[in-house]
Amino acid sequence: MNSKDDLDSLSSPLRGREVCVSGQALWQWRTAACQQAIAAQVPVEEVDWLLQDLAGLDRLSLRLETFKDRDVIWLARSLSDLTLLWQRRLQERVPVQYLTGVAPWRHFALNVSPAVLIPRPETESLIDLAIAAACPTPDPPYPAPLTYSQWADLGTGSGAIAIGLAMAFPAATVHAVDRSAAALAIARANAQQLKLTDRIQFYEGSWLQPLATLKGQLSGVVSNPPYIPTAMIPTLQPEVAQHEPHLALDGGADGLNCIRHLVATAPDYLQPGGVWLIEMMAGQASTVAALLQEQGSYCQIQIYPDLAGIDRFALAYRR
Ligand code: GLN
Repeated sequence: MNSKDDLDSLSSPLRGREVCVSGQALWQWRTAACQQAIAAQVPVEEVDWLLQDLAGLDRLSLRLETFKDRDVIWLARSLSDLTLLWQRRLQERVPVQYLTGVAPWRHFALNVSPAVLIPRPETESLIDLAIAAACPTPDPPYPAPLTYSQWADLGTGSGAIAIGLAMAFPAATVHAVDRSAAALAIARANAQQLKLTDRIQFYEGSWLQPLATLKGQLSGVVSNPPYIPTAMIPTLQPEVAQHEPHLALDGGADGLNCIRHLVATAPDYLQPGGVWLIEMMAGQASTVAALLQEQGSYCQIQIYPDLAGIDRFALAYRR
């Protein structure tokens, strides 16, 4: 197995399973992997994430260990390859999503590689906030008003937010921008897999710059920009600091460089009533709210918490 190629290639959540083992052999492998996880202080559930993807087993049969009695289980990799992958998780602290090449997000699965940030569960709320912002009085099932038809996802990475927006606003076009060609290749592959290429357009470039022809026309600008202060990055978990792209994490000395840029530049691109919506770090909310206020083009500035209660999202409307 060439593990570098494994990480670099896009893997499909519906990959072929070509190696067969007995349930008993897989059970023994899993038992040993769980013990190693505990010793290495890696969450033990991650063994099952790996097996759900690479052995096609569901969570319940893993948890109840009913797979143990099966004569044959088909795997995408041999048990010795699984062992090598698991060692990379434990010793090199490679996130399990980079090992499987897949990250679940909202109700779909995204291909990921070290060229893109692994989409986080808290970021899922950005899509719900965009829906609520565009439909202030939802009357379920709430069709998005046609006026909210042009969205931008700036720094799209794996394409998670762009895809989430395209699914939430079935009549909208989403403009997905990233500086990284490698990230855009993954975002494009994800859009293709989820059959959304007709409604998501991809642009290589910096923030709003590639969207010059859309000035004054965007219904919403959404971003999970890099917001970690540079000096804090080496203190993050090794999974993040050593494996996730710093381009997607590093927000400069105070973490706010990209957010300041988005506050300053978005008003030229948003239509009146257009939504400005970003994710940020704990402790940044009051500064971001002040930046929006001082800029002068925004109204109804709001801060929203994530599911852990941390102020995580800032939303405002273009006057
Ligand atoms: N939420 C990510 C983390 O915790 C950071 C993402 C970002 O900088 N936008 O590492």
